[in-house]
Amino acid sequence: MLLKVENAKAYYKLEKVSVKAVDGVSFEIFEDEVVGVVGESGSGKTTLSNLVSMNILKPLTLVEGKILLKINGEFKEISSMSREEVKKKLWGKEVTIVPQSAMNALMPTIRMAKYVEHLAHSHDLAEEKLLAKAEKRFEEVGLDPLWLKRYPFELSGGMKQRAVIAIATILNPKLLIVDEPTSALDVVNQRVFLKVLMQLKRMGIVRSIIFITHDIATVRQIADRMIVMYAGKIVEISSMEEILRKPLHPYTRGLLNSVLTPEPEIRKRGISVIPGAPPNLISPPHGCRFHPRCPHVMDICKEKDPPLEEVEEGRRVACFLYSEERR
Ligand code: SF4
Repeated sequence: MLLKVENAKAYYKLEKVSVKAVDGVSFEIFEDEVVGVVGESGSGKTTLSNLVSMNILKPLTLVEGKILLKINGEFKEISSMSREEVKKKLWGKEVTIVPQSAMNALMPTIRMAKYVEHLAHSHDLAEEKLLAKAEKRFEEVGLDPLWLKRYPFELSGGMKQRAVIAIATILNPKLLIVDEPTSALDVVNQRVFLKVLMQLKRMGIVRSIIFITHDIATVRQIADRMIVMYAGKIVEISSMEEILRKPLHPYTRGLLNSVLTPEPEIRKRGISVIPGAPPNLISPPHGCRFHPRCPHVMDICKEKDPPLEEVEEGRRVACFLYSEERR
């Protein structure tokens, strides 16, 4: 195992209210796996990625729970590290996050090499050595190292995204978190990017990958397991194979049935939409947060929050349809 998240709650604490963006999630990431985290907008996926990488900036606050990462063979509670410690010891080397739209956040007036120099300074490393590593990494992701001397606007979208990944992985982070990395790319560049990700993993440059997306059709191509989030909670965790074959949680079923996919099992079930909209996370519904939209809602669902329970080996679901409690 590489990472353990135990009952983590992360809220955006505003002046009078709190937005419960991630509300009591527990899961693990194993070594050498790709985990897709899926859900609609506002389900808490991006907050979860910030949490796992300890990119916690006010008003986001970790109000409860622990995040543990294996560092040098031992689990360390990274959620108790100071921001300075996180910057020095964690980012780049242990965990790297490539945030949503990272490629569009590149300053048009700063050459790509400058980002490598910044990285060298922040980790007290020799600039020249790191630039040499960056040249190699550019080649590994299929880019000419000469592009390091160019400005971001001179690169196409697909090239920029690969350049961002190359720079983000220079220090060989064990865990790479990518948030919606393919949403701004065309289909051809999406495929190239997924290939690059898998190559970085095969080469041992990164050990495990968390792929955050709303796009199940993309993540199913590379993920070993899937975590489904709804309204700040994890509702289902399963191997990709099993979840595509037989989604258990009503929300997962709705999500899978609302996408076009070549999967015969899903095609057979047809396309449908989930009625309604995700709840407001300032005051989410009592009980199961999906109950106002669920076609199987029961009385208990309106009163109690269903716990995430193991229903088969390696498969967990938070739904009273599968729980002993309703029987
Ligand atoms: Fe539907 Fe109840 Fe399951 Fe929630 S707990 S998903 S409301 S059946």
